[in-house]
Amino acid sequence: MELKNIIFIIVFILSLGILYLSLKKIWGYLKIGQKENRFDDVPSRIKNVLKIALGQSKILREPVAGTIHFVIFWGFMLFLIAVIEAIIQGFYSPFSLKFLGPLYAAVTIIKDVFGVLVFFAVIYALFRRYIQKVDRLQGGRSEKIDATIILGLIMFVVLSMFGQNISEVAANGFVLSEYEVRPVSFALSKIFYASGIENARLMYEVYWWIHILVIFVFMNYLPYSKHFHVYTSLPNVYFAKHGDKKYALKTMDLEDENVEQFGVADVEHLTWKQMLDGYTCTECGRCTAVCPAANTGKLLSPKNIIKNIRKRVEEKAPLMITGVEENEALNKTLVNDYITSEELWACTTCNACVYECPVSIEHLDSIVEMRRNLVLMESDFPAELNPVFKNLETNFTPWAFNAQDRADWAEGLNIKTMAEDSNCEYLFWVGCAGSFDSRYQKVSVAFSKLMQKANIDFRILGTEEKCNGDTARRLGNEYLAQMLVQENVEKLNGYGVKKIVTACPHCFNSLKTEFPQFGGDYEVIHHSELIDDLISSGKIELKDNGEKNKVTYHDSCYLGRYNDIYDEPRNQLSKISGVELVEMERSKDKGFCCGAGGGRMFLEETTGTRINEDRTKEALETGADTIASACPFCMTMMTDGIKSFEKSEEVSVKDIAELVLENSK
Ligand code: SF4
Ligand code: SF4
Repeated sequence: MELKNIIFIIVFILSLGILYLSLKKIWGYLKIGQKENRFDDVPSRIKNVLKIALGQSKILREPVAGTIHFVIFWGFMLFLIAVIEAIIQGFYSPFSLKFLGPLYAAVTIIKDVFGVLVFFAVIYALFRRYIQKVDRLQGGRSEKIDATIILGLIMFVVLSMFGQNISEVAANGFVLSEYEVRPVSFALSKIFYASGIENARLMYEVYWWIHILVIFVFMNYLPYSKHFHVYTSLPNVYFAKHGDKKYALKTMDLEDENVEQFGVADVEHLTWKQMLDGYTCTECGRCTAVCPAANTGKLLSPKNIIKNIRKRVEEKAPLMITGVEENEALNKTLVNDYITSEELWACTTCNACVYECPVSIEHLDSIVEMRRNLVLMESDFPAELNPVFKNLETNFTPWAFNAQDRADWAEGLNIKTMAEDSNCEYLFWVGCAGSFDSRYQKVSVAFSKLMQKANIDFRILGTEEKCNGDTARRLGNEYLAQMLVQENVEKLNGYGVKKIVTACPHCFNSLKTEFPQFGGDYEVIHHSELIDDLISSGKIELKDNGEKNKVTYHDSCYLGRYNDIYDEPRNQLSKISGVELVEMERSKDKGFCCGAGGGRMFLEETTGTRINEDRTKEALETGADTIASACPFCMTMMTDGIKSFEKSEEVSVKDIAELVLENSK
């Protein structure tokens, strides 16, 4: 064994030892979190890893930045082959992967090609951060230093790898061995060693040491950097929520008398997965870049929520683990000292942050859990919510309407209630807005008329329907939400309901994804899906009324991002004769929230600009004379937006059911 091998083994053991201690420490931190089973459904989880982590599907939603990351990610994955070769050489110097035969050609060409690609990707990443100054990449000083160190280390890995290859080619007298394919290294070698190859073997050793040492520094720096995601992103994606109910909020056990804490006040109330989210954030800022609250000048930044979780874990977990009882940090809490209630109440629960996050971080669950603590433990919520909660408790709707008037909109329409005759195909779940809001009552009427035209056998619950609990739940009032859901489930199950159709995406999402948590399993469809079917099957025929309309469709977050319904409403609009469908700049899964979700419908917007005005402006920029929507909240917010731009005369806001009815035979 040569001296080189002995020194290498010492450095290798030291590096692995330090890395082991760093990872063990973080593992210990995660263990202070609450238990949560994320070990089910292995095939779906593996599929997610293949698509999101290895296929980089979310990263590539931004084509330029995505491609850079894709190249660096896969470059690094492929460099692992070279790293393994270099490490084995540390133990046994003559080792080479040449024994792979023809496969060695692939190894060498990959190193050359990806070496060049990663080199330019790093240069471009530095350019975007420091010259182009891309907004979402402009963090604080420590963020900048961290990013520069990481990009610098990546550059050193690549350059030292090329240094080795170039020197090796020269040391071998510019003769490549069988299966060795190194076009770049060969050309560079000719240039760098043009004056002679005497030092080539020595330089190979120098570059080998630089390469191996940079890799050891890199892997030990990661646990202290935002780039810890190099280790955690695959597991974080693997353990992320998945399936068609992945955006359902977690239910709370309110019956357990031993539970002393509801919601999240501090890090020990988070689950291990929520803490892992903190350790996986790459600080790329994609979540904040799409957040409607952040975009309109509110204090909320989903990126900072996740960053602060990690910060607080790193502050409190060591104290908890070592049993320290007296420390200033123990007087603080995550909520209030790191994340303010102003941030938490600014969230519209639009889900854009979760949807965009390339490493499947679940910001929204953490935000709602923190709201639960504010409402259930501290009674700390905006004053405007007092009447909302009160109305939900007494009138079963967020508004001050009498529960007995819930079915007044249906008078004269000859619609039976379930109490009168429960033998039907569909239950039409009307929702609070469809029942009480004078504008949206018209949508309930239009949709009912469409169903009657198509001979759909449907009923309503009438005065027996209660709010679906979405508003209370997203506002953190889980007691109230569960009470409403359970009473509704009891009623629905009592009537043996199988199929439900609703025009409200919030009702739709709750009924479809959250009622099953309480024993309410139904086939739930949105009215846009049913209308689309009725038109396709010819049960509703459209006529040409000679009008020309330019229509833009505003995607509801709870219909689109939450439930992947983008095409059905558009299909109907495009089938209406004379309709020219124009898209807003941010549409479909990149659609911008109207500002009303998560209970924001009932809260004043006192900071920054108004979200609904931002969205309405975008709709007006299309030149459309009609804004089509498929959600009562969106309709209200867009109508208010139109009013604030004094465009009510020129532009109208209509539900898709109204547009189809107007144009049906
Ligand atoms: S859910 Fe929407 S509003 Fe809330 S933090 Fe995420 S992006 Fe912002
Ligand atoms: S939470 Fe996700 S999207 Fe937001 S900064 Fe972190 S990694 Fe990027």
